[in-house]
Amino acid sequence: MKRTIIGFHLDENGDWVANLDCAHGQHVRHRPPFVSRPWVVSEAGREAMLGTELDCARCERMEWPEGCVACRRTPEFDETTVPAGLRSEHTTRRGVWARVHVVRGVLRYHVGPPIDRSFQVGPASSAVIVPEVRHRVEPEGPVRFFLSYGCRDE
Ligand SMILES: [Zn+2]
Repeated sequence: MKRTIIGFHLDENGDWVANLDCAHGQHVRHRPPFVSRPWVVSEAGREAMLGTELDCARCERMEWPEGCVACRRTPEFDETTVPAGLRSEHTTRRGVWARVHVVRGVLRYHVGPPIDRSFQVGPASSAVIVPEVRHRVEPEGPVRFFLSYGCRDE
């Protein structure tokens, strides 16, 4: 999934990591002759790459980003109080991660392209909602669930 570079930082080994707008990081090493990214070693080179895109495999694997903590949650919904907006396809905004937590019953969670998967989320479990990826939920009988949203822990 294409994500935009919004900054860079050095990891503990002194290797450059691109900060993506999904909140994941991705190594952008310059290790000639194996990996050639001469631009990454200069500030001007890195600056010029801001706003360009990289493929984020971690988003496609639905990996919750490090340093992202649950900071607020919705009330509990049941099969009669699920907001219509959650039942129809929608997305979270850029960089906004969330989780579906099922307290009781079973919820069907549909995730659109490029992930294209459908899950049953059961009691005491949760599923990750990836920023800007279309999704919807569908109660499979009586269910109680809530959503939590992630914030950067800074
Ligand atoms: Zn990502």
